[in-house]
Amino acid sequence: MSDGPTYGFDTLQIHAGARPDPATGARQTPIYQTTAYVFRDAEHAAALFNLQEVGYIYSRLTNPTVAVLQERVATLEGGVGAVCCSSGHAAQIMALFPLMGPGCNVVASTRLYGGTVTQFSQTIKRFGWSATFVDTDDLEAVKAAIDENTRAVFCESVANPGGYVTDIRALADVADAAGIPLIVDNTSATPYLCRPIEQGATLVVHSTTKYLTGNGTVTGGCIVDSGKFDWSANDKFPSLSQPEPAYHGLKFHETFGPLAFTFHGIAIGLRDLGMTMNPQAAHYTLMGIETLSLRMERHVENARKIAEWLEADERVEYVTYAGLASSPYHDRVKAQYPRGAGALFTFAVKGGYDACVKLVNALEIFSHVANLGDARSLIIHSASTTHRQLTPEQQEAAGAGPGVVRVSIGIEDANDLIADLDQALAKASA
Ligand SMILES: *Cc1c(COP(=O)(O)O)cnc(C)c1O
Repeated sequence: MSDGPTYGFDTLQIHAGARPDPATGARQTPIYQTTAYVFRDAEHAAALFNLQEVGYIYSRLTNPTVAVLQERVATLEGGVGAVCCSSGHAAQIMALFPLMGPGCNVVASTRLYGGTVTQFSQTIKRFGWSATFVDTDDLEAVKAAIDENTRAVFCESVANPGGYVTDIRALADVADAAGIPLIVDNTSATPYLCRPIEQGATLVVHSTTKYLTGNGTVTGGCIVDSGKFDWSANDKFPSLSQPEPAYHGLKFHETFGPLAFTFHGIAIGLRDLGMTMNPQAAHYTLMGIETLSLRMERHVENARKIAEWLEADERVEYVTYAGLASSPYHDRVKAQYPRGAGALFTFAVKGGYDACVKLVNALEIFSHVANLGDARSLIIHSASTTHRQLTPEQQEAAGAGPGVVRVSIGIEDANDLIADLDQALAKASA
């Protein structure tokens, strides 16, 4: 597709980044199942290795199928470039990698995917990095947590475990004033419900494993760059602003301008960390994205219907869905998430732990899995699974108390989902 007029989301989700295959005319993007690419001649090879010419060398770095996905996600997010990688967690490391160094920290929201909390609070310490967790609704606390070694602020848009949406604009202003980028994990909202770059974010990360692929088939991740951050404005980001010793002294920002972060992600990040997305995974995710808007509309519509039904049910104590009129985030949803608050929420069942376990066991359509963003409806009782090792106090603080279940509402018939919940709640409260 040409760069012509600005097309609508429904058009871009099918066409952005793709063109008929130059070799065969194949209309669908082929899976380029190849490791290496033949150089035209020695000069061509040298130009590619010098980053003087953009092209394909080796699939740890770039692959034509993956490249289509990168351009598609970048376009849908309103960024200048994107780098795909092997999982959402890989994307988080890849996003932080050019920014951080030993002794540096990231200020992160307390409301994050459980795996991200572990990655940030434990594993990144091995790189000499650290994370400070704050309530991102308390902007003064965010400002206070930023020190001279902070290199980024990190949050989720529609956040785990559900019922919360972040005020991205306000957080971006705080990060801007501190001269550091805001990184937004947009996995649960997708660019259909939220475009963090428009709200001031510098980088967007995705677990493409979830809604972008949409049917629980492959893991993948993506980092999108807005291209708007001035990496040379202060001395905090030497990997981007200063000569990079890992690439014969190349200055990425000076050389590539707004594409500095993207080029660094490929030339250094994928080259040396090797968290590469394979072309099969890119293919599945491209197929998923073609129907993203249609699925997200149904996800939101079903989530709203089911949350309202649960809220009115006597066997349910409370429902935390930001799309409900009763949510404290109702106004924020209207202003920043006009297409809806996603399809992820928690609800508390009267009868506590035992009732939740019975509910999960009795459901027939809902699957009991540790995943979200599938076409199928999913449920998890966090207190007996993902949050099992925490104290009851820690579970409550994480929104995963013993009497709470988290659901990821799928795109099945909403009436069938309600009937399934109804019969399972009857068994749970018997
Ligand atoms: C699943 C998920 C991740 C991690 O992604 P993987 O692809 O499983 O590595 C990160 N953030 C959010 C919000 C997620 O839902």
